[in-house]
Amino acid sequence: METAKRLEFISVVIPVYNESGCLDELLKRTLAVLDGTGRRFEFILIDDGSSDDSAEKIVRAAEARPDQVIAVLLNRNYGQHNAIMAGFSQVRGDLVITLDADLQNPPEEIPNLIAAAEEGNDVVGTIRQNRRDTFFRRFCSKIVNCAARQATGVDMQDYGCMLRAYRRPIVDAMLQCNERSTFIPVLGNSFARKTCEIPVAHAARTVGESKYSVWKLINLQFNLLTCMTTLPLRILTYFGLLAAASGFLLSLYILIRRFCPGGNEWGNAGIFTLFAISFIFVGIQMIGIGIIGEYIGRIYTDVRARPRYFIDRVIGRKEADN
Ligand code: UDP
Ligand code: MG
Repeated sequence: METAKRLEFISVVIPVYNESGCLDELLKRTLAVLDGTGRRFEFILIDDGSSDDSAEKIVRAAEARPDQVIAVLLNRNYGQHNAIMAGFSQVRGDLVITLDADLQNPPEEIPNLIAAAEEGNDVVGTIRQNRRDTFFRRFCSKIVNCAARQATGVDMQDYGCMLRAYRRPIVDAMLQCNERSTFIPVLGNSFARKTCEIPVAHAARTVGESKYSVWKLINLQFNLLTCMTTLPLRILTYFGLLAAASGFLLSLYILIRRFCPGGNEWGNAGIFTLFAISFIFVGIQMIGIGIIGEYIGRIYTDVRARPRYFIDRVIGRKEADN
């Protein structure tokens, strides 16, 4: 396969939400890096309904370098991942690189991502070295990354870092997914044949503050989980089965004790019998809810209406037949 091809056209996609303070440096550093790659590029900045002057700054940059800097202005705030999707709808390059506007991901890493993609990887992830975030953030992302690994079956260590590269077919596939709650790194991986992760530097936020409150973060983590799997809906069934089985075993034990010597007094109080019976009923209820969950899971999968497959290419057909 001719996977190790030079990628001629690079698209960089950055969502911007009230990042006026970082924008000048972001533009300067990113454009310097992109100019240095010696390839055709487009630098797409999406204004996610900022209330400061971010949008004006982006528009000015786009006017100064037409066809190289592209401004996409959304009419209100839709959230980071939706903003990136809006940017994806505008890309024309062979390789699409996403990063954050706050310069926590240094744009100087872009050439390393291009090199890793040119080795034939569909998705290039990154692992933040010496991550400059609070202990709480790092702790939470450890748990989430572990869950994402289990759910996706793709062995990536760091799903949280948005500094990533996707080959164009992966982006096209993501654009065909119509669901509202997405987590782009997980979605991207679900369409990738070959992925890799490279170490990248990470900086602390110097200007402005994180746009994610604890609640927004929790919501995002749920998006990550539900984007890939309906397993949480099934958990209740498992608990129900466990409760019902233990209730059944307890009844059996009580029955046997009843026929043993002294069993009469032991069983008299009846309290254990009550426990056993209620366990069984609680279990049945949980299983019932779990089964409803199974249906909801299927409805959810159908409502998302993701395409069933994407054909990479078809080989062996004569041109005329196409
Ligand atoms: N962002 C956005 N819309 C939002 C929230 C964030 O476009 O509603 C952008 C933000 O401008 C930045 C990136 O998403 O470029 C990551 O945001 P932030 O740095 O606040 O997140 P953190 O690094 O704390 O996870
Ligand atoms: Mg940040």
